[in-house]
Amino acid sequence: MTSPRHPRKARLSKPHHSTNVDPNLSLSPIFVRPGEATDLPKFTLPDSMSEPETAYQIVHDESILDGNSRLNLATFVTTWMDDYAKKLYLESADKNMIDKDEYPATSAIEERCWRILADLWHVPDIDDTLGTSTIGSSEACMLGGLALKRLWQERRRAHGEPSDKPNLVMSAAVQVVWEKFCNYWDVEPRYVPVTPDHLVLDGTGLEDYVDENTIGVVAILGQTFTGLYDDVAAIADKLDTIQADTGLDIRMHIDGASGAMVAPFCQPDLAWDFSLDRVNSISTSGHKYGLVYPGLGWVVWRNTQVIPESLIFHVSYLGGDMPTLALNFSRPGAQVLLQYYQFLRLGFEGYHEVQQNSIDVATFLSGSIEKLGPFRLISRGDTIPVFAWVLKEGYTDNWSLYDLAERLRMRGWLVPAYPMADAMSDVVLQRIVVRFGMSHDLATALLTDLTAEVHKLDSLQSPLPDEFARRSQFHH
Ligand SMILES: *Cc1c(COP(=O)(O)O)cnc(C)c1O
Repeated sequence: MTSPRHPRKARLSKPHHSTNVDPNLSLSPIFVRPGEATDLPKFTLPDSMSEPETAYQIVHDESILDGNSRLNLATFVTTWMDDYAKKLYLESADKNMIDKDEYPATSAIEERCWRILADLWHVPDIDDTLGTSTIGSSEACMLGGLALKRLWQERRRAHGEPSDKPNLVMSAAVQVVWEKFCNYWDVEPRYVPVTPDHLVLDGTGLEDYVDENTIGVVAILGQTFTGLYDDVAAIADKLDTIQADTGLDIRMHIDGASGAMVAPFCQPDLAWDFSLDRVNSISTSGHKYGLVYPGLGWVVWRNTQVIPESLIFHVSYLGGDMPTLALNFSRPGAQVLLQYYQFLRLGFEGYHEVQQNSIDVATFLSGSIEKLGPFRLISRGDTIPVFAWVLKEGYTDNWSLYDLAERLRMRGWLVPAYPMADAMSDVVLQRIVVRFGMSHDLATALLTDLTAEVHKLDSLQSPLPDEFARRSQFHH
C-alpha cells in the first residue's frame, strides 16, 4: 500500500464513506457509484481517480451556479453562438495557434481574418500592412502600445535624444488595460480628465498633455463606462495643429475593443480608422462585437513602417519564415476559425443586421428607461449598443442605483452600478450592454422587472442602508 509512487496513500486512513464531511473543505458527490469515494478534497489533489461521469457531474453542477450568461447585461463578451459554430469549436479545440507549421490552414485563416479587418478599417495599402490575432484586446492593446513606444525610442535614439521618460496620453475613462500597459512597460500615463462637458477625449486642451516624450495618444471607440466614442477625427485635427505649432509628430492607437466591430457596419460615415493619417494601429476584441466566444483579439497596423522590425520574431512556417508579434506563445486556434466562420456566415450585411439590431434594442431600452422618471441618460446606446444612466439629482434619498442593481440581481439580471471614472467618481452610473442574443422580448421582460423594482423602491418610507455601495462590482 505504501509504495513510493503513492506516498500520500497513508492519508486514506479515514474511511471512504465518511459521514462528517466538512462542506467547506470537501465535495461530496451525491451520485453514488460503487467503489468510489463519496467525498473529494476541494483544495488538494484527490489521492485517486474518479469515474469521468462523476468528475463531469461535479464540475458541471458547480458551474451552473454561475449567473445565467444570457441575463448578464454587464459583459461585453459573446455569450451566444449558433450550433455550427459550436460544432467547429469542438472539432478544433485541440489546435494551438502558435503551431503555424503544423496547422498551416488555421494559420492561413488567421491571416485572412486580419486582412479582412485591415480592409474593413480602410488600410491604405493592403499589401503593406501587418496584423495578428491575440488572446483579447488586452494583448492587442499592449502590442499597439509597444509599437508606439519602440518607434518613439528608435526615433529619439537616432537623433541622440534621451528616451527614458516615455508618456502616453489618453482619457481618464480608458479601460484598465492601458493602466496595465503603462505600469508593466514603464510608461507615464497622462490622463485627460472626464468632465460633464467633456465626457470623451475630443482634443480639447491636448496641447497641455503632449510633449517630446509622448509616444502616442490612445482613443477609445466605445468607452467601457458609457459606450461613448472618443472623437478620433477631432483628436487627429488637434494633433495636426500641434505638429504645425511645435513640430511634434504624434500618432494614435485606436482601442476599438467594441466599436471597431460596430462602427464599420452601423456608422459607416464616421471617420475613426486608417482613413485618418494619424492612426497607426487599431485593436479590437473578436470576442466582443466580433461575435466569437472568448478569448480572441486582433490588432492591425497601418503599414510596415509603423511596426518596428525589432519587435518581430520569426517562426518557421512550411519550411519558410513567418513574422510573428505576440506576447503569448500557445493559445487556442479554435477562436480564429470561429471568427472566420462568422465572417463567412454573416458577411457585411449580416454584421450590419446583428449590430443594428443590438443598437435598436439598446435605444429602445434606454428610451424606455428615460421615460420611467427617476433616471437621466448619460448615453443612449446608439454608438455601440451600450448605455448608462444616473439617478436624477434630488430624486430620492431613500435608494440608490446600487439598490436597484441588487434587486434586479434577485430576478437574475446582472445590471451593474459603479462609480464613473476618476474626477467624476462621485457620480454613480448603471449600465446595460446589449449583445447578440438579447432579443426585443428579453428586453421587454427586463423592462417589466426594472419598472416593478423601481416602484417597490419608490414605495420605501425611509432610506435603505448604504452597504451595497461597498459591494458593487464593475465589469470593465
Ligand atoms: C474590453 C475592453 C478592453 C479589454 O479587452 P479584452 O478583450 O477583454 O482583453 C480594452 N479596451 C476597451 C475599450 C474594452 O472595452
